[in-house]
Amino acid sequence: MKFADLVAWYDRIEATTKRLEMRAILVEMLKATPPDELPVVLYLSQGMLRPEYEGVELGVADSLARKAVVLATGATASEVTGSVRESGDLGTTAATLLGRRKRLEISSPLTVHEVYAGLTAIAHTSGEGSQEVKVRTLVELLNRAEPAEGKYIVRFVLGTLRLGVREMSLLDALAVAFADGSKEARTRIEGAYNVSSDLGQVAVALATGSLEALNSISLEVGRPIRPMLAERALNLGEILERMPEGAAFEYKYDGLRVQAHIPVRGEVKLFSRRLENISAQFPELVEELPRAIRHKPAIVEGECVPIDPATDEILPFQEVSRRRGRKHDLDKVQSEIPVCVFLFDVLMADGAPVMAEPFPKRRSELERIVAPTERIRLAQQTIVHDLEAAQRCFDAAIADGSEGVMAKSIAAGSAYRAGARGFWWIKYKRDYTQTLGDSIDGVVIGAFYGRGRRAGGYGALLLATYDPKEDRYESFCKVGGGFDDATVAALPAKLKPKEREERPKGVLTELTPDKWVEPYFVLEVRGAELTLSPNHRAGVGQIRPDAGLALRFPRSTGRWRTDKGPTEATTSQELVEMYRKQVKQSPHRSADA
Ligand code: ATP
Repeated sequence: MKFADLVAWYDRIEATTKRLEMRAILVEMLKATPPDELPVVLYLSQGMLRPEYEGVELGVADSLARKAVVLATGATASEVTGSVRESGDLGTTAATLLGRRKRLEISSPLTVHEVYAGLTAIAHTSGEGSQEVKVRTLVELLNRAEPAEGKYIVRFVLGTLRLGVREMSLLDALAVAFADGSKEARTRIEGAYNVSSDLGQVAVALATGSLEALNSISLEVGRPIRPMLAERALNLGEILERMPEGAAFEYKYDGLRVQAHIPVRGEVKLFSRRLENISAQFPELVEELPRAIRHKPAIVEGECVPIDPATDEILPFQEVSRRRGRKHDLDKVQSEIPVCVFLFDVLMADGAPVMAEPFPKRRSELERIVAPTERIRLAQQTIVHDLEAAQRCFDAAIADGSEGVMAKSIAAGSAYRAGARGFWWIKYKRDYTQTLGDSIDGVVIGAFYGRGRRAGGYGALLLATYDPKEDRYESFCKVGGGFDDATVAALPAKLKPKEREERPKGVLTELTPDKWVEPYFVLEVRGAELTLSPNHRAGVGQIRPDAGLALRFPRSTGRWRTDKGPTEATTSQELVEMYRKQVKQSPHRSADA
């Protein structure tokens, strides 16, 4: 396929703000793409080169891209700087300057394959002299590019594609392009994606076969599965009502979710909740897992928590997060803050998938294949049938340093549901006894300048929930409280790469921050209660027409949820549910008050 064709669709996508229109363009694009090129087109359209879990980053600095634009267009560095000041985007500048250059010879049009190969080469070049090689490769691409093509090539390498095409929109488009667009087809496609975590693989199966072909997508060691998620309950009584067959009550450890892939031979891989490869952060687990897991290949899940080596007590989660991004003194951190993982599920044992088995069967499989060690343990579990036993388990969980319980259905249908949130798993935390017990993971969509002590920097952030149905971010609070001085001081530099002058696509709010921020950062906040608001748009219209939900007296907990991507933040639907629960808890309040 010609790269110019792809670029023409991108231009149309960029020009629309309407979701349905965007979907129609995506459908057209997917249908016109030869099946073997679908994966590349799907990755590129999200600004990626490979499925997210492989973590392939283009990693080209702005200065390097500018150098390539200078070389390819014959413009001077100051001309480029001046033009970027006007256009606000090096991609647009490249297009303008490429339009002016004199071409000596007419080259053959770029293909999608050639651009992808060039970008891949840029991503994989490292070591001494790599900067020059990257610039040269980029210049070669730009030399052959038409102006509009150059715009997107530059945006790809800088990681600023900003088409607003996310996986939910692509799943919708795939269902229309290669099936009948029905809800059922969409659900099956999403199901296959939840297991493979690779839209490219799903698209090829669909385009070359049919919905049935999705059945051929199965678990693979080394490729992460999207995690099963839990609902909330008002109290322990509600949990038992929802699980009449009884429930497996497990400790809810407050740490980092880890999905471990253990092959018969070769590298153990650990994935985070958002499917990032985090093996390098936990070398001690990578080393110990093959010994603790007796029947390989296996895929198991657990919660990784720091423990006090002297007392074996669970330490606060923050101790683990100190490891993130550490490369050099990991040895030191490892001995200072040892971790252990409490395994709570198994998805593959002895090379056989067990996801479809009911939970009690999976738990016995887990017990069969794990020989617990100091670092690899099993999550504490008790089968509960009545309130008294449930309360006892909950109290014991709190006393032992966990944040509550995870109640899991033991019914015949209690399969592992990849990527789904439902009442098969219910989380119940100590804090739920307060008015608004649970914290909310909000996506930063804007920032407000500070005053007084915070003058010169930012004073508050605008946060949003994610609405997967509409694939958009909806504001629910402006939070300025709860930040320590160091966090406030670090905010401008932290937000800078994601700051925008214009409201990013798919962001909904009635407030106008001083700076918009591309949805990327996820911050945990708490608040007093949820109320209806004309300014905020979370779950708009679901409780009352024209009103969204807002969090009163929001405060940051200080925890950046780096283990969550923006689409994994608290959803607008969850907020609506939290609001309804809150209304139930306070009888003087009516549901639509
Ligand atoms: P969510 O994962 O539901 O979006 P979250 O990441 O904010 O929310 P919590 O609300 O604290 O996390 O609850 C769910 C998480 O609890 C799981 O993703 C997992 O990391 C953790 N967890 C701790 N103990 C268990 C357990 N025994 N079984 C399942 N999950 C557990």
